[in-house]
Amino acid sequence: MKILIANLGSTSFKYRLFDMDAGHAVQLASGGYERVTDYTRCITTMLETLVGDGHVESGEAIGAVGFKTVLGKDLSGCVAADEGVLEALNGFKEVAPAHNPAYAAGIRCFAEMLPSVPRVALFETAFYQWMEPAAYHYAIPETWRNLGIRRYGFHGASHKFVAERSADLLGNEAVADRVRRLYTDGPGNYCGAPLRVLSCHLGGSSSVTGIQNGLAVGSSMGFSPQSGLPQNNRVGDLDSMAIPYVCKMLGLSLEEAERQLNKESGLLGLSGVSNDARDIREAAEAGNGNAALATEVLVDSIRHWAGSFFFKMGGAEAITFTAGIGENDADLRAAVCAGLEDLGVQIDPQANTKAIRGTEGFISTKDSKIKVIVIPANEELVIAREVFRYVQAS
Ligand code: ADP
Repeated sequence: MKILIANLGSTSFKYRLFDMDAGHAVQLASGGYERVTDYTRCITTMLETLVGDGHVESGEAIGAVGFKTVLGKDLSGCVAADEGVLEALNGFKEVAPAHNPAYAAGIRCFAEMLPSVPRVALFETAFYQWMEPAAYHYAIPETWRNLGIRRYGFHGASHKFVAERSADLLGNEAVADRVRRLYTDGPGNYCGAPLRVLSCHLGGSSSVTGIQNGLAVGSSMGFSPQSGLPQNNRVGDLDSMAIPYVCKMLGLSLEEAERQLNKESGLLGLSGVSNDARDIREAAEAGNGNAALATEVLVDSIRHWAGSFFFKMGGAEAITFTAGIGENDADLRAAVCAGLEDLGVQIDPQANTKAIRGTEGFISTKDSKIKVIVIPANEELVIAREVFRYVQAS
């Protein structure tokens, strides 16, 4: 079966086509278009290319199209991308303005152009469906809670992949199997050996998730992906009272404050240099104090959230790093794990330095009680696997 993953931005359309017949996902083709105003034209051109290059006989020969939807009102999971999904995306279009309208438009286009090809939405919140109410409620009035304001958690596809892969690497087949079947069979009762993972997805946007026996117990991200760790140019955690105060003191409109929190904050806002971790490190090494501070704040925030989930789960068997910063930045990984020997974390400096993008492996010593692992992310591939499982099970 061929699975097409459509990655939709407000002005971009990217795709990857995978063949799942070998028992694992093999990428056949990828491509994309910028400055898009009409998805119909992109889809037509993409299909012509895929057919012309011999990857599929026709659009109808695609087994399913998968969409990495971000946030739906009153809906999550890995589900058929039908009217219910469109309604859920529309319900939260103000919370994810760059994503929800684009995905709704894209899903509609595929429905019109390839009506017989199943469409599947994998919400980024899906992995957090089984969080305890105490972990997802904010202490706000009921009228606010009724609007759906709560912690959701994001980067679900990436953290779920880590949940499965870390279980594989640590030889915990019971957890690996539970995670593989999570979206089709639900969590069921777990009675295998415990596995608690502190999963750090550190990239352009970053989050830490606590994973206990394959289930997420919490995320550093809350109502929107703008919370938690400082992001590339988005704020991360901020005391809510800062917003009305800044609006009053600087005479900003709410819209302008929102723009600054989304575009001029995070690592960019702190460093004043760049939103890219590599530039920030370079500037710090050249003596820029604000750049050094930006990395220190990121490290502190990662440790804050990982520590929170360590406590919540009563310990951990593994700490994992994934995505651009997590896979490449050995110094940052060392800083996150520094001084944790009493907890049982021993980094192997040589293995840590060797681990760069695309390499999977342990970066802790053999004796380290808590294993530290680098697990490369490939979100489209992860989504293709989930969509394939969903289509097979339905
Ligand atoms: P996104 O989250 O946007 O999908 P990535 O997961 O690729 O993207 O992460 C992008 C981030 O990874 C950028 O901040 C980039 O600076 C960082 N990164 C990439 N390579 C390195 C490296 N060698 N050292 C440190 N950071 C890196």
